[in-house]
Amino acid sequence: MATPKIRSKTSTPQKSNHTPDGRAAPKPAAKPKRFKSAYTKAEMEEIFRRFSVQRPEPKGELEHVNPFTLVVAVALSAQATDAGVNKATRALFKIADTPEKMLALGEEGVTQYIKTIGLYRNKAKNVIALCRMLIDEFGSEVPKTREELIRLPGVGRKTANVVMSMAFGVPTLAVDTHVFRIANRLLMAPGKTPDEVEENLLKVIPDQYLFHAHHWLILHGRYCCKARKPECERCVIADLCRSPEKTVDVPAPLVELPQQLIGAAVE
Ligand code: SF4
Repeated sequence: MATPKIRSKTSTPQKSNHTPDGRAAPKPAAKPKRFKSAYTKAEMEEIFRRFSVQRPEPKGELEHVNPFTLVVAVALSAQATDAGVNKATRALFKIADTPEKMLALGEEGVTQYIKTIGLYRNKAKNVIALCRMLIDEFGSEVPKTREELIRLPGVGRKTANVVMSMAFGVPTLAVDTHVFRIANRLLMAPGKTPDEVEENLLKVIPDQYLFHAHHWLILHGRYCCKARKPECERCVIADLCRSPEKTVDVPAPLVELPQQLIGAAVE
C-alpha cells in the first residue's frame, strides 16, 4: 500500500510580515474595489437594443413645463411617487412657473399645494430657498452643470442628473429606487450605494444607449421587473437575465409598446 506523502511543515517558506532587518513590513495598499457585471458587452448591447425597440422614445413621468418646474418636481419626488407629485404640482405650476412667482407664494403658500406629498414642510422650505438662490446667483435660470445644480437647496446628485438629462440633453445616469434595484437584482452593475451603482452602470451601458438608459431602466422596473414580484413572463430580456429571482427563461415578444402608462400603476 502506498504511503501517503506527508508534506513537511518546513518545505514551504512562510511569508514573513517583517522586513529583513526585523521591522514590521508596511501593509500593502488596498486594491481598488473591482466590480463584475454578470453580462458580456454583447449581452448588454442586446438588452438595451430590446429596451429601445419596446420604448423608442422613453420619457419621464414627472410633469413640468420648463427647466425650473422640472427641478422643483424632481426635488419634490424624493420618497414620493411621480403620480403623487403630479397631482400636487399640476395646480402649483399653473400659477408659479418661475422662481419669482414661486417665491411670491411664500413657504406657507407652497405648503398648501404640496401637503399631500411626504416631507412637504421641509420640501416647501427648500423650494423657497432654491428660488432665492436661483434669483440671487443664477439670474433666475436653472444652471446646467452638476456642480452648480447640487448647490441648490434640496437638489442632490440624482436630481441634478435628471435635470441635466431631461432639460439640457446631457447623457447622465440618475440612480433612483428602480434603477438601483434593477442594477443589483440583475447583477448588471451591483453596488451598495446609488453613487456606486451609477459609477458601475456607466461602465457597462453601451454609449449609444446611455442617453435613454435611465428612463428604460425606470420604466422596466416600474412596469415589469417590479419590486415585490418581478413579472418575468412579460419580460423581453428573460432569456438573458441572470437574476436569481427570475421565474421564466422565455422572453416575451419584442414589440413596441402602444403607449407609456403615464401615472397608472406607479408604485
Ligand atoms: S426576467 Fe424577471 S427578474 Fe429578470 S429582468 Fe425580467 S422581470 Fe426582472
